[in-house]
Amino acid sequence: MASRKRDEFSKLVKATLRDRVGSVCSQPACGKATVGPDVSSEDRAAVIGVAAHICAAASGGPRYDAKQTPIERASILNAIWLCANCAALIDKNAGRGYSVRQLNKWKNDAEAQAHDALLSSAAYRRPPWLERLSTVHYANVPRLAQMLSVEGIPDSVIETLQNGFPTSGMIVQELVALEKAIEAANVEALPLDDILPPSEDIVGSVISFHHNCMTKNGVIDREEVSPKWISDFNQERSPHFYIKIRGTRLNFPYDPRWVTTTTAYSDFRAGRTRFAGLGVVKRISDDLTEAIVSPLLVGLPRHPAWDGFL
Ligand SMILES: [Zn+2]
Repeated sequence: MASRKRDEFSKLVKATLRDRVGSVCSQPACGKATVGPDVSSEDRAAVIGVAAHICAAASGGPRYDAKQTPIERASILNAIWLCANCAALIDKNAGRGYSVRQLNKWKNDAEAQAHDALLSSAAYRRPPWLERLSTVHYANVPRLAQMLSVEGIPDSVIETLQNGFPTSGMIVQELVALEKAIEAANVEALPLDDILPPSEDIVGSVISFHHNCMTKNGVIDREEVSPKWISDFNQERSPHFYIKIRGTRLNFPYDPRWVTTTTAYSDFRAGRTRFAGLGVVKRISDDLTEAIVSPLLVGLPRHPAWDGFL
């Protein structure tokens, strides 16, 4: 009888496979940890997981696919990370209980879950630039009031600003009250750099940014903008700024009524500028390359030395 050649996984494939699922078993009803300390020693780890073949390593094995090349059979695409029990389970009865399609689904779901776990570890933090915010360029006051706390912003400010900032030019009193309220509130947000690449589960989250921004379609002072271009983002028409970072473009369409001063209007037409701010993630494109973020607060940090600070 000819000896059956087994196409085994390399060490690197095994380690990568395990890391891609955060070292837990990929069987959805199991999800057991597969890596921990070796309790018989003080300096070794124990691994109870295995890189199992989706299609068997040798002919005659479970789900063996004769059309695979030896390289395909030993590749990470043909591997699933399981605890020892589940690895034995999927090969019972010559593997008839578990199809290739089902195992691939387990694998994809386990990887997606590990990815989400990474994201949820992005912690809400008080943005460091907030301490030195000297000019509020844009403030969606009612939404900020909702987010911070009802007490966060004085009623008088909300009333005055209900329909956007009332006049062009400096509105010192309102700005001072607003800045004070923001300073006093315990604002926390996910730092932009911690949520990239973006995924569906950050929709609705408050993020903070302090980045180079490109401005587009800015308006002059109180110039009217069709509400349509504010509610439905259009790259060619909507007033917005955007941040391009690590393959993702984050668009921040804004309502010009909430721009605070004449200077701010011109900064929103500057082409390229550095803003710090807070926004709520509204939408993420299916391919994760584009996000729409609704700005709550946009300003400039006080000192130019902070320009290099993230
Ligand atoms: Zn398991």
